[in-house]
Amino acid sequence: MSARGGDQFVEWATAIPTARGSQLDFESFPYQRELYRVCGDLEIENVVIMKGAQLGVSELLTRFALYCPDKLGLKSLYVFPTATHMRDFGDTRIRPLIDQSTYLSERVDSPLNKNLIKIGLGFIQLRGSESRRDLIAIDADLVILDEYDDLVPENVPDAEKRIAASPVGLVRRVGVPRYADYGIAARYSESDMRQWMVRCDACLARWQPIEFWRNVAWSEEDGKLTDAQIVCYECRKHLDVSRGEWVPEHRGRDIVGFHLHRLVVPSRRSLLEVVRNAKRTAPYEVEAFWRTDLGQPYAAEDSGLDRTAVAAAVSSSTSWNDGQPLKMVHRYDGPNFVTMGVDVASTRALNVRISEHIDDIRDPGMTGRHRKRMLWAGNLASFDELPGLMHRYGVTVACIDHLPEYRLSMGFAQRFPGRVYVTSYSQNQKDPLYISSEDLTASVQRTPALDATVELVRCHRNLLAADITPEYVEHLVRPRRIVEKNEYGLHTVKWLEKGPTDFFHAEVFDLVATEVLKIRLDYFRQLQPQYTTLDELIGFERTRLDAPGMGDYDPGPPDEYDPGPPDEYDPGPRG
Ligand SMILES: [Zn+2]
Repeated sequence: MSARGGDQFVEWATAIPTARGSQLDFESFPYQRELYRVCGDLEIENVVIMKGAQLGVSELLTRFALYCPDKLGLKSLYVFPTATHMRDFGDTRIRPLIDQSTYLSERVDSPLNKNLIKIGLGFIQLRGSESRRDLIAIDADLVILDEYDDLVPENVPDAEKRIAASPVGLVRRVGVPRYADYGIAARYSESDMRQWMVRCDACLARWQPIEFWRNVAWSEEDGKLTDAQIVCYECRKHLDVSRGEWVPEHRGRDIVGFHLHRLVVPSRRSLLEVVRNAKRTAPYEVEAFWRTDLGQPYAAEDSGLDRTAVAAAVSSSTSWNDGQPLKMVHRYDGPNFVTMGVDVASTRALNVRISEHIDDIRDPGMTGRHRKRMLWAGNLASFDELPGLMHRYGVTVACIDHLPEYRLSMGFAQRFPGRVYVTSYSQNQKDPLYISSEDLTASVQRTPALDATVELVRCHRNLLAADITPEYVEHLVRPRRIVEKNEYGLHTVKWLEKGPTDFFHAEVFDLVATEVLKIRLDYFRQLQPQYTTLDELIGFERTRLDAPGMGDYDPGPPDEYDPGPPDEYDPGPRG
């Protein structure tokens, strides 16, 4: 390690008590050691920390800002969003740190003003970002840009240029991300993107980053959350996050970047708080969870599913399954109705979702809590495999995409008349759902159908299997619901899809199959056709256009399992 390496700083920093008078504790918070080493390494010019709140980063930066003048005679410039921030920081962070340490107290001259602290042969200057004049008046060897996304953006480049004349020229940028592709998130994406990776000992050599929707497990009874813990995404055994390493995604890039979030803190109490925050639903609380707990940007302008909602759906299926992760099955011959949705990406790429309806499907929505669980979801390489699935799972009704292979889809429907419907989206039909039994077709209004699909996941009525693939999750979280004003000033809702969303649409077609099944059941019960609106069918209030979120969220555990008697259905003559 060179004399300029970070170990010297680590040694120096460890000897300084915290502002509360305790010692830095790398044993309890092992993710901090490399942060200290890298931030304190004079060979590394640029460090970015995209972070959540209260992770000890201010402690670190304050020490480094003091270390540079004290040991090396350098000039530190510490920039905050405003002068008020700056004064608070001086009073609550820097001053107590100096007061707690006999060593520092002796090294620091009593400040002439609060913005300038002389220490050793160098000094620290504190500045707010709103005054360009104050910023450009000074030079520095080290610039720390704190609360990066809240700095006055047009003055940031000026602040960063303060190191131009320095032989060392260090910049440390930290902040809680506000938007993707902006500020600290944009800087992090240019870096080597280090994540804290933890290995699972139970299934050996499986290194994994810690992500909320994959790695956090908890118990929930009568709304009370307990037993929050980090588990392996594969074998679901407990993972010790203190035994991790920072691993770069882009090894060799000049800028070193860390994504630091609260899931790497090895504290059950802290984790339980994160889980509690994950359950909150007010828009500002959801945003706070993403930003301050997960250290990730959160875009409130659009909505749709997020990983937390998907994780919650998986977690409810575990509760329903007596605490065991619900796994996919390869056949089903139970008594319940089964539906299937098939999205067709091409002749050789079919995306399928198959569901068992574990509650009475005719249970009216307002009081009923009809749920379905995933039997299987995956890809097929050919239309020829579809009939086999119909038999193996005893599929009652299936809906298949009418595009881009209409002829093949119709051929499949003709083999199973009354059970398979070639389904299309419509933007302008009057009824939310229209079925033609003669033509073997169904068409559905696109926006309400996509809304309803998301809502089913959110209110835990679509129990997802624990072994869905990361690709599946990507497809579910990708569609974004946008509310726009049109040229007449009216709000319109649009679903945008950037990138593959095939499994999301398999989910939509599975939902349509459920609605078709209900109508068929009514038909056979009353022996007369009728039209129903999606609202009545789905049984929950559809989100209003002006609502930024997606309607009411019900965090409650699923009701008692009561499948009811599914015995009156006659699927009609088979072809
Ligand atoms: Zn494991």
